[in-house]
Amino acid sequence: MTQPMPSKTHSSKTMIRNALQELYFLSDAYVVGGAVRDSLIGRDSDDIDIATRDRPETVKAKAEFRGWNTVDTGIDHGTVTLLKGDSEYEVTTFRRDVSTDGRNATVEFAGSVEEDLKRRDFTINAMAAGLDSSGNEFMKDPFGGIEDLINGRIRAVGDPKTRFREDLLRIVRAFRFAARYGFEIGEPERSAIEELSSEVVGNVSPERITSEIEKAMKSPNPEEFIAKLVGSGILADYVQPLTGEIRNPERFVDIRDIERAEDRMAIFLWELKNASLVDWADLQERLRLPTDQIERARKIGQLLFLLEDPISETNRRKILAARRGLISDAQRIARQTGRVPPSRFEKPKEVPLEPVATGQDFLDAGFEEGPQIGDLIEKAHAIQLEEGITDVELLIKKAQ
Ligand code: ATP
Ligand code: MG
Repeated sequence: MTQPMPSKTHSSKTMIRNALQELYFLSDAYVVGGAVRDSLIGRDSDDIDIATRDRPETVKAKAEFRGWNTVDTGIDHGTVTLLKGDSEYEVTTFRRDVSTDGRNATVEFAGSVEEDLKRRDFTINAMAAGLDSSGNEFMKDPFGGIEDLINGRIRAVGDPKTRFREDLLRIVRAFRFAARYGFEIGEPERSAIEELSSEVVGNVSPERITSEIEKAMKSPNPEEFIAKLVGSGILADYVQPLTGEIRNPERFVDIRDIERAEDRMAIFLWELKNASLVDWADLQERLRLPTDQIERARKIGQLLFLLEDPISETNRRKILAARRGLISDAQRIARQTGRVPPSRFEKPKEVPLEPVATGQDFLDAGFEEGPQIGDLIEKAHAIQLEEGITDVELLIKKAQ
């Protein structure tokens, strides 16, 4: 099925056209996958993936002849990166799946873009944009991806159960794309997910799951993605044992208000840790995350947690001092979510070392002259130093 490109203009559409023009020398070259989908939605995409009939050696030879630098990014599965000036493209030879086992696919090179599109996960990810011989753009959309984009639906290419069984990560990817675009997951897909969710964690590498979680943190509704991960039981399998607290939607709802993906991930990890019975080291091992990322999540989470309720000035000073390096990050998150009042991040007041409440102050406040005044001065002084209180009236009240 070949149809004219819908006539919306976007910068990503220009990027697609430029790519195809620059790579005119490749046989049957198409922009495929995410860039096509995002251009139709009117979003920019970071990277442009190209598919071609040429084999990797041919891609390299043709490109190098025209002054491109080439990198063997994944030459075994057919991918070469082409670089020239500001342009960078991942070019992959058309492929088809020979066998799949829920984790890995054995692929071989294929002769047509249709075959290449057929092995892709969802209809919205299985479209290709090409240029005809007169330089006009056209779309290949053999599975109705445009219609699904219009209707806001995540639909598998082919039979959902079969496609999810081939690679169970696709279930998590369905959640991610649904959250990213606010789309519904189609019906046969939902039943297939229900049937197969319990097999995901045992069959997919943690690295791939965590990578989808990190990407999902960039979507406008990360809490929806998390809710699906919880609802399907996948998160519980991944980080067991979890407590019932994980189902408390309050935990994750404000993650959407946080701007940076790395900050969202930090709060997600903190909440996840606290809704589980695992320790931080365990969590790190299961999610295969680097130590510094886990440490950052732990410290930021603690800081926000400890400052959530009113505390003495001394404790506040100690808490802030112990996590100096992360105060501005935590403060940013607190501002965006409202988890902590901004005043709790203010620099602690300097406390004078000399007693501020003197004997005269106690006498003025109506205390009887005598040896007990010395005890009161001492007590007020201790409170002054410990709690950082410098208000004389308050010190006198607390000391008696
Ligand atoms: P993003 O913008 O988040 O990168 P994307 O669509 O580019 O989205 P990628 O994970 O980068 O997603 O994959 C690029 C393309 O490769 C997808 O659009 C899809 O066509 C195909 N693809 C990726 N992962 C799978 C998979 N597990 N099964 C089938 N096809 C996949
Ligand atoms: Mg991509």
